Amino acid sequence: MDSIVSSSWPGDIGPIFLTEEQIQRRVAELGAQISQDYAGQDLVVVGVLKGVLFFMADLLRAMAIPVAVDFLAIARYGPTDETHGVVRLTKDLNETVAGRHVLFVEDIIDTGLTTNFIMRALRLHEPLSLKACAFLNRTRRRLIDIDLAYVGFDIPDFYVVGYGLDYRERYRNLPYLVVFDPDQAAEG
Ligand code: 5GP
Repeated sequence: MDSIVSSSWPGDIGPIFLTEEQIQRRVAELGAQISQDYAGQDLVVVGVLKGVLFFMADLLRAMAIPVAVDFLAIARYGPTDETHGVVRLTKDLNETVAGRHVLFVEDIIDTGLTTNFIMRALRLHEPLSLKACAFLNRTRRRLIDIDLAYVGFDIPDFYVVGYGLDYRERYRNLPYLVVFDPDQAAEG
């Protein structure tokens, strides 16, 4: 069964960086830690679409406390999807978070520019506290200091897809994380 599933993916995806088991083990740890830290508090967990899709869903189910959930959406303006141009909010919060604790959840933090932009936008809503949680943290290309309360995995300087992360909107639905070389990617 496994071989049938994996053989249906094109040959341009690279070696596995994190298996489903490794991801789920770490997500369970993070969920337990967050549940402990926010026990008895009014917490709103905020994700930014779309890369955080699976991490957010798994992390929420690993939390043993009642939380509210909300999403932001952003658009990037740059010559390609992979360049980090100007970021604009295309969907703001539905929840009122003033006076409540907010945990911002990200898929991957690279230069830190996106997270910095979103944290600034969230602060305008005057939450009681604001912390950040990233599934993946790549510090090598960091341009701006980000205070991260929770990190899933530190990641070296290679591009990854799967578990919500895409290359030109593809591969998000891979249940694990693979190394991906955009230069080798098939067109289309
Ligand atoms: P930053 O603003 O921190 O430089 O960029 C963060 C965003 O860049 C992430 O939310 C993600 O959309 C994208 N990104 C950075 N590195 C990777 C990667 O290795 N794989 C994928 N799929 N997206 C990435």
